Amino acid sequence: MKPRRRSESATSSRGVAGLLLAWYRRHRRDLPWRESRDPYRVWVSEIMLQQTQVDRVREYFTRFMRRFPDVAALAAAPERDVLKHWEGLGYYRRARQLHAAAKRVVADHEGEFPRTAAELRSLPGIGRYTAGAIASIAFDLPEPIVEANSRRVIARLVGHDEPVGGVRDEPLWQIAGELVPPRNAGLFNQALMDLGAMVCTVSRPLCDRCPLAAACVARVTGRVEELPVLPRQRAVKQIRETALVLRIGRRIVVERRRAGEWWEGLWDFPRAARGEVRAAGDRLLGTIAYSVTHHRITCRVVERRLSRPPAAASHRRLVTAAALARLAMTAPGRRIARLLDET
Ligand code: SF4
Repeated sequence: MKPRRRSESATSSRGVAGLLLAWYRRHRRDLPWRESRDPYRVWVSEIMLQQTQVDRVREYFTRFMRRFPDVAALAAAPERDVLKHWEGLGYYRRARQLHAAAKRVVADHEGEFPRTAAELRSLPGIGRYTAGAIASIAFDLPEPIVEANSRRVIARLVGHDEPVGGVRDEPLWQIAGELVPPRNAGLFNQALMDLGAMVCTVSRPLCDRCPLAAACVARVTGRVEELPVLPRQRAVKQIRETALVLRIGRRIVVERRRAGEWWEGLWDFPRAARGEVRAAGDRLLGTIAYSVTHHRITCRVVERRLSRPPAAASHRRLVTAAALARLAMTAPGRRIARLLDET
């Protein structure tokens, strides 16, 4: 079904923008990347915010900016340094693409960010949403954005009752394009995101505090809890594995995740081969559980002492506990390392 058209006056694009901007002036979230409109800061924050909660990003953003204060500093840094500052944020491909894009900005654009959404999208890791966010927030261009929060607000506002996500968001992009005002586009887009995060929440939205309540089709028709229509979730896949803490004297074996593996390029403890039998002297250090996409993994952590090192390999190293702390590790790898400290 096509989204319902909004009537004129308060529900027109201009009316929605005016209401939302007035609300934003009073209620905006105070976030460190909003201290300036520097495109570098906007870009780094937007990449960090993909799939990571705002509160978690705050701390990482500040630390990242201290180490890489501008695009030139990021471009000049070794990759291991960038990954180390990303450790714990997950989705490390984002960090690699951020690094690659910084090098491109320096090499191809003399260190200046391109200004149009189309040019921004030619950089690694910058898709339609991130390009719209940078172009509108840093350069005040009337570019729309659709991400989890704004998608929810727009879908409810217009009563969009088709499944959303990926290519199915196209009608919402069209509506976002109609709504975004010619001036203050960046403020408007941030207001949409803040409204989604603070008022038009996934469950129990605060419609009685919403500046768009009078214009909202979902509220007027009593379908707030039904919208947006989310695609069916994939079934959770349970996996069991054993991580090995292999000790040779005071050193421990770590392995770098290879291309095609989760956490490519980061360090972790080796996993036992399937069907491997328990060796004499193995000691169970504990069990950790973690999730990756729709996989739920239960991982036993076993310590084993070896009399000689395993075969040399380019992805394998023997490190001391102090060196372990300095490596960029996978999230489960870091949890296993903490387990070593505790046992
Ligand atoms: S009225 Fe309710 S459902 Fe509609 S946009 Fe506002 S908070 Fe969301």
